[in-house]
Amino acid sequence: MSVTERTYIMVKPDGVQRGIVGDIISRFEKRGFKLSALKLVHATPEHLEQHYIDLKGKPFFPGLIKYMASGPVVAMVWTGLDAVKTGRVMLGATNPLASSPGTIRGDYALAVGRNICHGSDSVENAEKEIQLWFPEGVVQYTNDNEKWVFEL
Ligand code: UDP
Ligand code: MG
Repeated sequence: MSVTERTYIMVKPDGVQRGIVGDIISRFEKRGFKLSALKLVHATPEHLEQHYIDLKGKPFFPGLIKYMASGPVVAMVWTGLDAVKTGRVMLGATNPLASSPGTIRGDYALAVGRNICHGSDSVENAEKEIQLWFPEGVVQYTNDNEKWVFEL
């Protein structure tokens, strides 16, 4: 855990279509994370299969790839203390019916196959996902708020 930890957060096609992009960005901003990269991308099935490679073979895999390729997604990298675990807490459980109110999925979703947002599940996977979605690299800059967010 460090203040430079990074996580990959992605608003899925349903989140984009339903106009929840701004709220998701706002939650990460307000929590104190630094936006390190952001782009709107309509990903190919091949790219999405790579992203979800660990789930290949699951019965829901073909439907998942079709859903994720059905429209553009917002790909983001957020940096800050314990970013991976905290990002997952902010997202809520995989099945929105099990997500607490106050979480992203708990506030906006009902179905596991339409759960509006992705977040990396480990630091190792976050780094892999950042490389896959941002091979050009992320933006390095100083966020002047840091001294108010962290005990630096
Ligand atoms: N998913 C699904 N049915 C399931 C389990 C997962 O449609 O029974 C989808 C869901 O969109 C989920 C994604 O596959 O977000 C990736 O699954 P994972 O177990 O990695 O959940 P996550 O890390 O997104 O919470
Ligand atoms: Mg996952």
